[in-house]
Amino acid sequence: MTQTEKFEFQAEVGKVLDIVVGSLYSHSEIFLRELISNASDAADKLRYSALTHPGLTEGHGPFEIILTPDKKEKTLSIKDNGIGMNKQDLIENLGTIAKSGSAEFAAHLTGDNKKDVGLIGQFGVGFYSAFMVAESVEVYSRKAGDEQGWLWKSNGSGSFEISEADNLPVGTNIVLHLKKNFEEFLEPMRLRFIVKQYSDHISIPIILQNGDEKETLNSSSALWARPKSDVTEEQYRDFYRALTHNFDEPWLTLHYSAEGIIEYKALLFIPQKAPFDMFQPDKKRGLNLYVNRVFISNEVEELLPHYLRFVQGVIDTNELPLNVSREMLQHTPVLAKIKKGIVTRLLEAISKKTKDASDYKKFWQDFGIVFKEGLYEDHENIKKIAPLCRFYSSKVEGLTTLEEYISRMVKGQENIYFITGDDLNVLKNNPSLEGFTAKGIEVLLLTDPIDEFWPQVFNEWDGKKILPITHPEKDFSNIQDVEQNTSDSLEEGMQTLLIERVKQILSGHINDVQMTDRLNKSPVALKAGVGQMSIHLERLMKQHGQQQAFASQRILELNPKHALIKKLGKAVFDKVDDDKINDAIWILYDEARAIEGEPLQDPAGFMAKVNAFMENGL
Ligand code: ADP
Ligand code: MG
Repeated sequence: MTQTEKFEFQAEVGKVLDIVVGSLYSHSEIFLRELISNASDAADKLRYSALTHPGLTEGHGPFEIILTPDKKEKTLSIKDNGIGMNKQDLIENLGTIAKSGSAEFAAHLTGDNKKDVGLIGQFGVGFYSAFMVAESVEVYSRKAGDEQGWLWKSNGSGSFEISEADNLPVGTNIVLHLKKNFEEFLEPMRLRFIVKQYSDHISIPIILQNGDEKETLNSSSALWARPKSDVTEEQYRDFYRALTHNFDEPWLTLHYSAEGIIEYKALLFIPQKAPFDMFQPDKKRGLNLYVNRVFISNEVEELLPHYLRFVQGVIDTNELPLNVSREMLQHTPVLAKIKKGIVTRLLEAISKKTKDASDYKKFWQDFGIVFKEGLYEDHENIKKIAPLCRFYSSKVEGLTTLEEYISRMVKGQENIYFITGDDLNVLKNNPSLEGFTAKGIEVLLLTDPIDEFWPQVFNEWDGKKILPITHPEKDFSNIQDVEQNTSDSLEEGMQTLLIERVKQILSGHINDVQMTDRLNKSPVALKAGVGQMSIHLERLMKQHGQQQAFASQRILELNPKHALIKKLGKAVFDKVDDDKINDAIWILYDEARAIEGEPLQDPAGFMAKVNAFMENGL
C-alpha cells in the first residue's frame, strides 16, 4: 500500500483558490487555455532538456496534448508527454505561487470578491483556474528521466495530497472532475471551439480523443516558435498570406528569437504593397501578441512605432502573464522594451534591403511616405532612419540619399536645401529653384504632406542644416553662378521706387516685397515669411478644412536682373501711364501665385489685362 501525504497550500494560493473555486466568472473556459499552455510549456522544456540529455526523449513519440472527455465519469483529462513533475515539483509548482499569472493575480487581490472575480479574466491564474470548473483535480505525473510517478490530488480547499503512482508514461495527465454546471466541457463541439479560439497556434498538436476517434483541433502553425532553419520559404509565405490576407510574397520576412534583457520571438513581415487603408486614421494597426504561444491580442499598437505601422506579424513572449488586460498592455514596460528591440531589428533588416536599389525603390514608393514620419518621431534612431530615406532632387533622375546629396555639394555650400510642393514636375520648374540651379546647388524636391513637418525637427544632418530654399543662408549668396548672368540689375534707386509701388498696389494681399537673387529666368516668385507656414502647407491645411483663410503673410520677390522688372522699374521712375504699371504688377502677382499652384484671384480680370498687353505688343 502506498502512503499518502497531505500538504497545506501556501497562504497566497489559498486566497487565489478561494476566489477561483467560488467564482461565477463568465469565461470559465479559460481554464483550458491555461492547462494547454502549461502542457505546451512542458513539451518545450523536455525538448530543451533533451538537447543536452538526448536519453530523456529516447523512445519518446511526437509531442502532443490529448483532451479526453468522459461523459460517464464526468471527467475531462488533459494529457501531455512533456517534462513531467516529480514529487518536489508537484509540491512547489502546484502548492505555491511560483510566478507570472497567479502571482500577479495574488498581488492584485482586493479582498472584495466581486472585483477579484473580474481579475480572473485579466490574469488567467494558471493551473489553479482548473478549480473554476472542477470540484476536484488529479494530476498524474512522471518526470522525464525518473522511474517513479506521482499523483497529486485536491479539491481546492486548503490542502492537497500526494501519493506514488506506478506505471505512468512520462508527462502529465490532469483529470478534472467537473462541477455540475460545467458538463459543457465534455462536448466535442465546445472543446473544438475553445481550442480554435484560444490555442490554435500552440505548436504541438492538440488532439481530441473521443472513444477510438482522434481529431487534431489546432492548426499548430506557430512558425515563429520554430528555429529558422526548420522553416521553408513556402511556409513563411503561406503564414504571411494567412496573416495579412494578401496573395503575394512578403517584401521582407524577419524571424528571430531575442534573448538577454528581454526574451521574445518575432516573425515580422513587410508586404509588397501598401494596404488601401494605410491612411485611414481610425484603422487599428499593430502586431499579434502571444504569450507562450497562447493568443493574447491582435493589433497591439504598443509594439510598433507609428512610422513602422505597415509591419505585420507576431510577437511571442513569456514575460507577460497569460490574459493580460488591454490596460496592462498599454502600461507594461515589457512591451516598450520589446518594441525597442523590434525597431532595432527592423531598421537593420530594412537597411540590408537597400543593397538592391530597384527592390528598395519598390518599398520606398509604397511605404516611404509613412517611414519618413520616423524622421520626426524617433529621435533615438535618427542615425539609422535618415540613411534609409530617399528623396527626389533637382540634380539627379530617380531617388537619392542624403549621403549622395552631400557628396555632390558644390564648393562653398554648407547646407542641404529643399523645396516642398504637390507635384514633382511642377516643382522642377518652380522659379525659386532657378537661383540654385544657376549656382549648381542641388535641391531636394519634397512632395509628400509629411515633408512639411519633418524638416521642422530633423533639421540637421552630418553637420549640415536642412533648410527650405525660401530662406537660404550665407553660403547661397557666396557661391557664384556657374554661368554668370552678366546683365545689370535695376538701379538701386529705381528698385526702392518699384518696391514702394508694388507694396501699395498689392497692399492687403502680401506682407512684403523684396528684391531677390534666388531667381534667374523668372521675374517674380512668392514665398512664406520666416517662421511662417509654407505656401504648400497652407494649401494642404485648407484642403483638409483645418484652417479658414490665413491672413496672408507672403513675400513677393522680384528679380532685379530680369528685363521685365527693369522695364517696370524704369516706367515707375519715369511716371509713365499709371494704369499700365498697375496692371502689369497685378499680372506678375497672379503669375507668381499660379506658379505656386494657387488659383488666380480673378481669372477674368487677369485675362483682360494680359489681352490688353498682347494687343499693344503685337
Ligand atoms: P505558470 O504557467 O505561469 O508558471 P501555472 O499556475 O500555470 O503558472 O503553473 C505552475 C507551474 O506548474 C508551472 O510553472 C510548471 O512548472 C508546473 N506545471 C503545470 N502544468 C504542468 C504540466 N502539464 N507539465 C509540467 N509542469 C507543469
Ligand atoms: Mg501556466
